Amino acid sequence: MQHLDIAKFGGTSVKDFQAMSSSVKVVVSNPNTRLVVVSACAGVTNILVELASGALSYDKILEKVDALRAIHMEIINNLDDKERCVNFLEEHLKEITDQAREASMGRSDALTDRIVCHGELMSSYLIVEVFKKFGYKAQVFDVRQVMRTDSNYGCANPLVEVLGLKCRELLMPLLNAEQIVVTQGFIGSNNEGCTTTLGRGGSDYTASLLGEACEAETISIWTDVPGVYTTDPRLVPHAMPIAELSYSEAAEMATFGAKILHPSTLVPAVRRGIPVYVGSSKEPEKGGTWVRPACTTRPAFRAVALRQHQTLIVLASPKMVGASGFLARVFGIFAKYRQSVDLVSTSEVSIAVTIDSGSQTSGLSHLSEDMLNELREFCHVKVENNLSLVAIIGNEMSRTPGTTTKAFDAIDDFAVRMICYGASNHNLCFLVNEDKAVDALKQIHKALLEN
Ligand code: ASP
Ligand code: MG
Repeated sequence: MQHLDIAKFGGTSVKDFQAMSSSVKVVVSNPNTRLVVVSACAGVTNILVELASGALSYDKILEKVDALRAIHMEIINNLDDKERCVNFLEEHLKEITDQAREASMGRSDALTDRIVCHGELMSSYLIVEVFKKFGYKAQVFDVRQVMRTDSNYGCANPLVEVLGLKCRELLMPLLNAEQIVVTQGFIGSNNEGCTTTLGRGGSDYTASLLGEACEAETISIWTDVPGVYTTDPRLVPHAMPIAELSYSEAAEMATFGAKILHPSTLVPAVRRGIPVYVGSSKEPEKGGTWVRPACTTRPAFRAVALRQHQTLIVLASPKMVGASGFLARVFGIFAKYRQSVDLVSTSEVSIAVTIDSGSQTSGLSHLSEDMLNELREFCHVKVENNLSLVAIIGNEMSRTPGTTTKAFDAIDDFAVRMICYGASNHNLCFLVNEDKAVDALKQIHKALLEN
């Protein structure tokens, strides 16, 4: 097959007619871009998640559905075949209303996925019409035909082998045609054909999974910022764009809260060594960031990331002295409750772990009281909230003398609740109080990345 580039457009890149038009221009400026993945229009998934919560009165449901109508009608009003598009939209809105009423009688994760999938189904259909309006041939492809996942609704895991087979059978033959194929990010289906989703922000992940399956040469993630910055420019005005990042650095950044790529995005790209580009669809001329298997520069400090809403759980047991199996027991319980743990620090009689309390998925991750009770059976449990993680990302940190001194000097003015360092060569993390986190971020950025 000839050279294939995949382009993914996030919610802000398809948020209205203007944004969709810029995205169309980005696609057609590279003739190798024959597969396009889109998110729902900005704000739509949030509204759908609310509708799926089951907590809304009928009046409120109608109000939310009106908001959805307004977002999509703005696009349709700029299109040629309005009537067909309005019919399409109204069919989806009717289904959403019915499903939201069903949710008010009893919500479920499966129903939530069936509700939220409308966002991507609508945006992909409408951007195809925008392509056509500008004279380009495009067709929509329902990604659920190929994106097979397990049944972990709200945060489903792709079944990569089935995906590969299905892509070869159903999607790749279309990519040779003289038209652009547009498909949905985020959504998939399980073996029973029920709709699933890959977790919030999962469209990036879809793009890289399809990139792997269809043997793409590059994957471009188009968003509203010209690439990855040394930190979030909204928080630190001195943040600078980064031209090139290695997979490991980018993965650390995603894990530690840089909202630029969904944390799983790089996994399929790494498996096939596909470079990933991040740029702004509104201002493509501003350039962006290439994330590559390896890069030419390897600075000790590359970026700082902030991950808010962290909870610290400290587990103490005097019986731990000289004993074995305590850690195994604790982690066994975390595993049983599917509680993902980020940082870990241990002492002779205690373990401290951090978990993310800001829900990434459609409301699935809460700290389970049952889990805490099970831990309380054999150790003392203390839970601390309102913490944030400030992570310094770089290279060869633990092998370069002086690195830690510089980092510690930079955080000198702040009370640090926990430090994590040593497991990876690419990061050094500080846990600080939420209300001081942005200041700490600014200070570290200034000391390590501004010169
Ligand atoms: N529309 C989904 C979300 O808002 C997926 C995505 O945008 O990547 O989470
Ligand atoms: Mg996104």
